[in-house]
Amino acid sequence: MSDSPIWHPFTQHGLGEPIPQVARAEGAALYTADGRRIIDAISSWWVTTHGHCHPRIMAAVAEQAGRLDQIIFAGWTHEPAEAVAQGLRAVMPPELTRVFFSDSGSTSVEVALKMALGFWANRGEPRHRILVLEHSYHGDTIGAMSVGARGVFNAAYAPLLFDVGTIPFPAESAEQACLDALEAECAAGVVAAFIVEPLVLGAGGMLVYSAEVLVEMAAICARHGVLFIADEVMTGWGRTGTLLACEQAGVVPDILCLSKGLTGGAVPLAVTMAREPIYAAHWSADRARMFFHSSSYTANPIACAAAAANLAIWRDEPVGERVATLAARQAERLAAAATLPNVANPRALGTIAAFDIAVPDAGYLSDLAPRLLAHFREAGVLLRPLGNTLYVMPPYCIGEDDLDAIWSEIGRAVATIA
Ligand code: PLP
Repeated sequence: MSDSPIWHPFTQHGLGEPIPQVARAEGAALYTADGRRIIDAISSWWVTTHGHCHPRIMAAVAEQAGRLDQIIFAGWTHEPAEAVAQGLRAVMPPELTRVFFSDSGSTSVEVALKMALGFWANRGEPRHRILVLEHSYHGDTIGAMSVGARGVFNAAYAPLLFDVGTIPFPAESAEQACLDALEAECAAGVVAAFIVEPLVLGAGGMLVYSAEVLVEMAAICARHGVLFIADEVMTGWGRTGTLLACEQAGVVPDILCLSKGLTGGAVPLAVTMAREPIYAAHWSADRARMFFHSSSYTANPIACAAAAANLAIWRDEPVGERVATLAARQAERLAAAATLPNVANPRALGTIAAFDIAVPDAGYLSDLAPRLLAHFREAGVLLRPLGNTLYVMPPYCIGEDDLDAIWSEIGRAVATIA
């Protein structure tokens, strides 16, 4: 047992694995309290886009912290929140006219689901069925778990989760089956919304599907008046090569969830953006029709200042070029890794590169992932396999040397461990 009273997330303390203490970070590097340099190959759980401690974001946080720390957001507003909302309106699809703040990816999903049900309830047509994609992950709060894949992660909490309709994942061989199932579900006329991770399912194993399927899925929803929710918590802010993954399909969702890279990954913040009819369904002189959702730190000014700085970086700096360069480098490294024995299903999308390690017992609880984790921890690389899936998703500022170091360590791990 360690001396620390901390209970860490997604950590089995009974395994006694070391928990390194990080003292500072810069760019793609983390520095531990005992002086080691670690390459952050997964952007600290997919959040860090421009790099750790980006000077403009840090300056904005410091400046805001000296001016206004926190203010209730029900019935009050402040300049950083207004700047973020206007900034989002300028870069996100124009159809998404409304911005609702929350604190994490999971809460942005809860908000999206409540907006969808509120929309139908206020129209006097109380639809409540939610459709989800097989293998999805949308977070760990009760609603977000309900719309995610069921498994070892949430088996203990299953009695609390609500029923959803699960649409088969559109793997290349199952695209039509996916679309047929969606069409059949939507045709029943009781579906409130369909929530998807556009183009790549993250925690489900970096599973990639085609933009054409995304187009069709959105079209089916539109035909049946089913709200289309895009959870771009992981895919947003350049991860898949474009600002939003939906862009690659020319799809504009009815509701959009953003978090992680919203602040460049520096501090927690999320938004749920909605089309005007969803807001209009709640707009009334009748208080019973308002959107009943809040949390204490909604639109925290310091977090909003970080998000405003992130938007300014996207506006002023060649972020798109950095993303394209990293995407090309990742594709090269993945192609080389794909020739190694035991490497299966190589796949890449934008800055994300992933593959599976072909071993017989590869479930989430097999000992492969902890062994890989230990290997990378000792090698000074922060990588966190998903079962037998290894993926690299670094900050966009990562240098060639660090990227080479990650991939050569992957080569060594695959050779020695698999
Ligand atoms: N949605 C997606 C697609 C995610 O990948 C995640 C987290 O990885 C979430 C929602 C939940 O975000 P958070 O961990 O900030 O609650």
